[in-house]
Amino acid sequence: MDLDHGACYRAIELRDARFDGRFFTGVKTTGVYCRPVCPARTPRSENVVFYPTAAAAQEAGFRPCLRCRPETAPDLGAWRGTSNTVSRALKTSASEMASPAAWVQGAPPPHPPALALRNAALTS
Ligand SMILES: [Zn+2]
Repeated sequence: MDLDHGACYRAIELRDARFDGRFFTGVKTTGVYCRPVCPARTPRSENVVFYPTAAAAQEAGFRPCLRCRPETAPDLGAWRGTSNTVSRALKTSASEMASPAAWVQGAPPPHPPALALRNAALTS
C-alpha cells in the first residue's frame, strides 16, 4: 500500500476501519504508535508519521498505544517476526539470570534484566 501522508491522515481522522492493519501511525509528540481506528484524539498532521507495519513503527522507536493495541491489529506477519526476536532475547537473558545464590535468598538481582522488563511493559 502506498503510504500517502494525506490519504493516511484522512483515514485516521475518519477512524476508517478499512485501513485497520494496513498502516500504523507514529505520533511524534507522544512516542506511541496507533491503529487508524484509535479512539484517541487525532494528532496534528505534522506530528504523525505512517508505517506499513507495527514492527516498522516499533523499530523507529515508538511504543504500542495502550488504547488501540496496535500490536494486536490484523495482518501481523511482520510483528510476529519482531515478537520472536524478543522471545529469543528473553530466553537468553533468562539463562544469564540463572541463579546467583543471593537471588534464592530474596536479594535483588545485581543487574535487572532490562529487556525482560521492557517486554513486560509492552505486554501489560
Ligand atoms: Zn492508539
